[in-house]
Amino acid sequence: MSRREAGDFHPALPCTLPLPSGPSIDMTSQTPYQALQSELHEIATLGSVQSLVSWDQETKMPEATAQARSEQLSLLAGLLHERQTSSRLGDLIDSCQDDSTLVGNEEVAANLRELRRDFDLASKLPADLVTELARASSQGQGTWKKARAEKDFGAFQPSLEHLVDLARRKAECLGVPEGGELYDALLDEYEPGVTAAEIESIFIPLRDRLSGLILDVAEEGTPPDEAPLRVHVEESRQHQFGQFVLESVGFNLGAGRLDITTHPFCSGIAPGDTRLTTRYNEDCFTEALYGTMHEGGHGIYEQGMLKTENWGLPTSSAVSLGIHESQSRLWENLVGRSREFWVWAMPHAQRILGEGFKKFDADSMYRAVNTAKPTFIRVEADESTYNLHVMVRFEIERALMSGDLQVAELPQAWNSKFKEYLGLDVPDDSMGCLQDVHWAFGLLGYFPTYCLGNLYASQLWEAASEQLDGLPGLIERGEFTPLRHWLNEKVHIHGRRYRASELCERATGEPLSADPMMRHLEGKIRPIYAIDH
Ligand code: ZN
Repeated sequence: MSRREAGDFHPALPCTLPLPSGPSIDMTSQTPYQALQSELHEIATLGSVQSLVSWDQETKMPEATAQARSEQLSLLAGLLHERQTSSRLGDLIDSCQDDSTLVGNEEVAANLRELRRDFDLASKLPADLVTELARASSQGQGTWKKARAEKDFGAFQPSLEHLVDLARRKAECLGVPEGGELYDALLDEYEPGVTAAEIESIFIPLRDRLSGLILDVAEEGTPPDEAPLRVHVEESRQHQFGQFVLESVGFNLGAGRLDITTHPFCSGIAPGDTRLTTRYNEDCFTEALYGTMHEGGHGIYEQGMLKTENWGLPTSSAVSLGIHESQSRLWENLVGRSREFWVWAMPHAQRILGEGFKKFDADSMYRAVNTAKPTFIRVEADESTYNLHVMVRFEIERALMSGDLQVAELPQAWNSKFKEYLGLDVPDDSMGCLQDVHWAFGLLGYFPTYCLGNLYASQLWEAASEQLDGLPGLIERGEFTPLRHWLNEKVHIHGRRYRASELCERATGEPLSADPMMRHLEGKIRPIYAIDH
């Protein structure tokens, strides 16, 4: 599931699936590369069916069909895996790699490099493991939902133990890089080339810098007035405002949708079909607004890739989850929580959300939406504390994979890390280790990409601010197109042509660093809280 903050991007599971009885390909009239493209087109189409069924499971599906749905998803996963690992696909990739007429074409070379990687990785997974992972994750979601509602980790524990076993088996099949650990094999699926040790080397110093900021805020800061966040707004008005903002920033609702789920996400299902979800809290309209802008950022990335032309090819799919997350964070936080955004948005909020906003101005809204304080729920966390939520999860899932932590010990480990990093006592598991759906999906190794996304977002934003004339003024006037086009050009249209680290350097001129994010946070939070150092 590709993801949310509130939200996540639901990665259409490594996908591509043609129907087993699909049209046969006439090799005589096609070059090997054309035949490969046709094969990938079918595989991607089968993957889009899987994504659509998954989307339905989370938005519309009657509970009573849970068993049938897990069988449907398991069957689709098996069919997809069969196509992704078929000898036909392997032969086509071989033929293209041997085809001298393709030499020198950079885009083709990138596609073949990534296809070879995908094929080799998929081929390492036995079919029974793939179908069992799909079945167990579909079932896991059901038990997780119930356990979360009942605040009862014990009810979810057996499902999670099974999912962790499967994740471990999967990592063993994929293979541990030399000198690495089991967890690296899972990370590599979401953020190719990144290791747990590298993540740790970014996280540890970042944790200290963030803790310093949060401590200053708590001890010396004058908090902003949060009254603008407390205005009661009916769901229908919030929905209208969310759609207005989405269209204004450039998400094409003619090629997408916005629906409601417990856990917001974005799914880039097919060319012309990018679906977002959000959730409404009538006593805190910013939850849905920022959830919608977040998923909208994922959606703008999905819509910015050249899917119509290159459907099924790596150059029309996302480079990594970290980069995907950077796109959502950029629109949610760098744009949506800026003073300039509220200069533009305030009259529209007063018009659409209601009279209650007439007594506030852009500045009071800007200050209120940048309130910084530790809270329990990751997807509702502010920018300064959010990454600490990710660090808790990263350390726990890494320990689950290494065997240093048993599933039964998870709530206790969670609560004690949470206390250490965020200073809060977790009241129950629904506010703690049961809050996220990821582990119920069997998605271990996914969480660190959220933090990487925040880092990439700030770095891209600094580069866009330098390269685009008068970006703050553009935002104040609601002129979002230049920024969206800059992102299209620097990030979206490349798909997987470059690895995330290379894409970052090409777009910003620098390797990934935590400095832009810390500059952004320090430069915003200290003045808002009247801290003068
Ligand atoms: Zn996200």
